[in-house]
Amino acid sequence: MSFIQSALPYQLNALVPFLSEEQLQYHYGKHHTTYFKKLNELVIDKPESQQSLEVLIKTSTGAIFNNAAQAWNHSFFWDCLSPVKQKLKSESKLLEGLKKNFGNFEGFKEKFSNTAVSLFGSGWVWLVRTGDKLEIIPASNGNNPIRDGKTPLLTLDVWEHAYYIDYRNDRAKFVSNFWDFINWDFVAEQFEK
Ligand code: MN
Repeated sequence: MSFIQSALPYQLNALVPFLSEEQLQYHYGKHHTTYFKKLNELVIDKPESQQSLEVLIKTSTGAIFNNAAQAWNHSFFWDCLSPVKQKLKSESKLLEGLKKNFGNFEGFKEKFSNTAVSLFGSGWVWLVRTGDKLEIIPASNGNNPIRDGKTPLLTLDVWEHAYYIDYRNDRAKFVSNFWDFINWDFVAEQFEK
């Protein structure tokens, strides 16, 4: 058995102007694909090849962990994005949770954005749920909150490879443009699971 990269849930040019077709082609077609390829090479003839990515994220270490986590993280990230502009529904339980934990939606947005812009080096910003508690977590490299028993709701990839073609070194602009392309239905679904 090998790990298979799922298809993007939209066309490569569907996220313009947040991400160009070339940017997404490199990110999905080169970076994300390579994590699957490396992971499959690493687990050949090993018991890890029979596990799910989630189990590998919780239990593995070293290169297997890094590639399994990056394989999962990107698939989740693609699901967090939508070509159709949408707002978080005012009656949603998620919005209620964000208000309870961050004061209001703007407070959440500001904290998430600041965390993304200030994260040192390569990594991810996660909105996670543990029971009723929502947290924003900066994670280095491929680290994933599933490992700590937390439920991911939303993520943003802030590795340079996520934005360098379209934004060069301007991570702040990439983060600011992200907000119009979030699949809030998907995020709310994770919250209500
Ligand atoms: Mn990436």
